[in-house]
Amino acid sequence: MAHDHDHEHDRDSEQPRAAQAEAEAIRRHALAQIRQYPDVVLRLEAKELGDEEFDDDLRRLVERMERLMHEAQGIGLAATQVGVLRRVFVFQPDDDGPRAVVNPRFLDRSQETTVEEEGCLSLQNVRVPVERSLRVTLAGRDVDGSEVRYELEGMGARVAQHEADHLDGVLIIDRTDEEHRRRALGVLRPQPVLAL
Ligand SMILES: [Zn+2]
Repeated sequence: MAHDHDHEHDRDSEQPRAAQAEAEAIRRHALAQIRQYPDVVLRLEAKELGDEEFDDDLRRLVERMERLMHEAQGIGLAATQVGVLRRVFVFQPDDDGPRAVVNPRFLDRSQETTVEEEGCLSLQNVRVPVERSLRVTLAGRDVDGSEVRYELEGMGARVAQHEADHLDGVLIIDRTDEEHRRRALGVLRPQPVLAL
């Protein structure tokens, strides 16, 4: 999931111009390594990890995902978005640093919902309103295979639901209303390349 850049301007304007340009170059380089719509991988269902798969490969995958999420200035990233169809996502539910959740499942989702605009690192320049449960209880395992459980509310709950959707091949354009979907698809339509 992408940060809301509109709310970042105050902080950005305090950065020297060179640092801003460098952060933007790093962000673009990271985005180039993240699968972009309409990549078909984004529509596929990811597979659960077995007990024997909590190994160095998984650790390397999670490290790479956390680095890309950070560099792309996102607050969540699913393995599907780096072309790996396994049920793993990383997210930043609070200021305590990134967390990885393997084989995530929701034990509970509140009836109470909120509608907020969401972006996605795989759908650049798109922001659409999405209705999500306000509170969720998320269970899964960490990178070492230990059981984890998070009680999430607000933004943390929203990011977890967004990333879990990716593991089922579901995108924010599927979760918004018809008008916003049509407008988003217009933004996402490949621009004609001027070939001379
Ligand atoms: Zn996303």
